[in-house]
Amino acid sequence: MSILYHSTRDNNKKLTASQAVLQGLAEDGGLFVPDSLPVLDKSLEELKDMDYKGVAYEVMKLFLADYTEEELKGCIERAYDEKFDTKEIAPIREAGGAYYLELFHGSTIAFKDMALSILPHLMTTAAKKNDLKEEIVILTATSGDTGKAALAGFADVPGTRICVFYPKNGVSKVQERQMVTQKGANVRVIGIEGNFDNAQTGVKKMFNDEALKAELKEKGFVFSSANSINIGRLVPQVVYYVYAYTRLLKDGKIKSGDKINICVPTGNFGNILAAYYAKQAGLPVNKLICASNSNRVLYDFFKSGSYDKLREMDENGAFSKDRNFILTGSPSMDILISSNLERLIYHIAGDDDKKNKALMEQLNKDGAYEISEDMKARLDDFCGGYASEEDTASKIASLYKECGYIIDPHTAVAGYVYDEYRKNTGDDTPALIASTASPYKFAKTVMCALDDKYASVDDMKLIDSLNEVSGVAIPQAIEDIRSAEVLHDIVCAIDEMPEEVRKFLR
Ligand SMILES: *Cc1c(COP(=O)(O)O)cnc(C)c1O
Repeated sequence: MSILYHSTRDNNKKLTASQAVLQGLAEDGGLFVPDSLPVLDKSLEELKDMDYKGVAYEVMKLFLADYTEEELKGCIERAYDEKFDTKEIAPIREAGGAYYLELFHGSTIAFKDMALSILPHLMTTAAKKNDLKEEIVILTATSGDTGKAALAGFADVPGTRICVFYPKNGVSKVQERQMVTQKGANVRVIGIEGNFDNAQTGVKKMFNDEALKAELKEKGFVFSSANSINIGRLVPQVVYYVYAYTRLLKDGKIKSGDKINICVPTGNFGNILAAYYAKQAGLPVNKLICASNSNRVLYDFFKSGSYDKLREMDENGAFSKDRNFILTGSPSMDILISSNLERLIYHIAGDDDKKNKALMEQLNKDGAYEISEDMKARLDDFCGGYASEEDTASKIASLYKECGYIIDPHTAVAGYVYDEYRKNTGDDTPALIASTASPYKFAKTVMCALDDKYASVDDMKLIDSLNEVSGVAIPQAIEDIRSAEVLHDIVCAIDEMPEEVRKFLR
């Protein structure tokens, strides 16, 4: 029953889970998927008596089949420890008619910590298992949160180096400070003159650049990825949906077998894909609600079956207007090419590698593709929505007014989209909303949503205002950057990215 992995563009070449974790992205540019999606072998009733680590093991063992029990439990122990500021790891807060699953209690206060605190351990364990001789070089493109979480996870991990590229003008002040103050002998942080999609495309290009890879292999380096395309990112994210369900069960909020809805603020489609995998594993889920900000390419896709990064859908369902990349107050969702959607496309095509490959080539060539009617029918698990900047701000303000609970802008996009979904469908199945960042990470946007008067106040000062208003203690991650020294100041053009990597490894 050992699950193997293969590319979404080639069903034939098989890898073990640990090999897929090491490699990150398939050589043909596809993403690794399991041969078949695993199903939980313990009941949710049994899991409800376990703690986070216990549930993590039961879920992850299904996917990471070639890791021994000892190896996997070792990784889990090292990941979910005091780095998290609560024993629950991912606590749930009931507010405004929904359950907010707080995924931001790790060291960089965004949900990326949930997976990136374990990925380095999964990777170094995989390197040992597979007798890897080379040093692992993590190349990462970030829309703001992945970068810091990956840096924190990999800093000073023996046998690894990490190089992070972020859009110089596309992340929040706090996000940038978190990254450029990162310590560690094996880390490098580089701003690029471009947006997140440019950064992500640039990194993907390097992964597929055979000449560059050969050159670095000779020097003793091999690339891997900490982006959410790595199954070592995806699998740990399945855990908290299962865990959350068992907590609702334990607290008597739902009964055994009850369905829940899950609403996820979405960018690269990793977090919501993990929820889909949880559903396939047997979690009773009704709808997966995919929430976008003004970069609503996924909303248009779920509505029409057409993915178009260049044109936007109008009221009549025609793709008539140019789509522009919009910088929003929820920057981690400012994405027009959602990489992980490829995995869903592959699955709804009936695990058809050729069909998927053709669609991805079309996306590459024309910036768009349209799925067949059969495939559309299999999208029934999903429903899309989006929130404008005003909608997002209004949700932050109204939830605060209603129950004194302050959420970050990404979470507010999901909160708003969920309210609309419920209003429009009348579906009041208990709903879990993925709360993906601490409001402290986006203090400016959050405080301005509460009152315009904060617009002229310095970002760092607003942290104290947020503390006064929310009564929530200032997280250590924020205290840390207030005084920290800037250690990284390189900015490069998109086509200079490979040269910067060479310099880093020289
Ligand atoms: C990364 C991120 C998202 C988007 O998650 P995806 O897995 O890329 O869809 C949403 N919110 C925050 C705060 C994030 O950091």
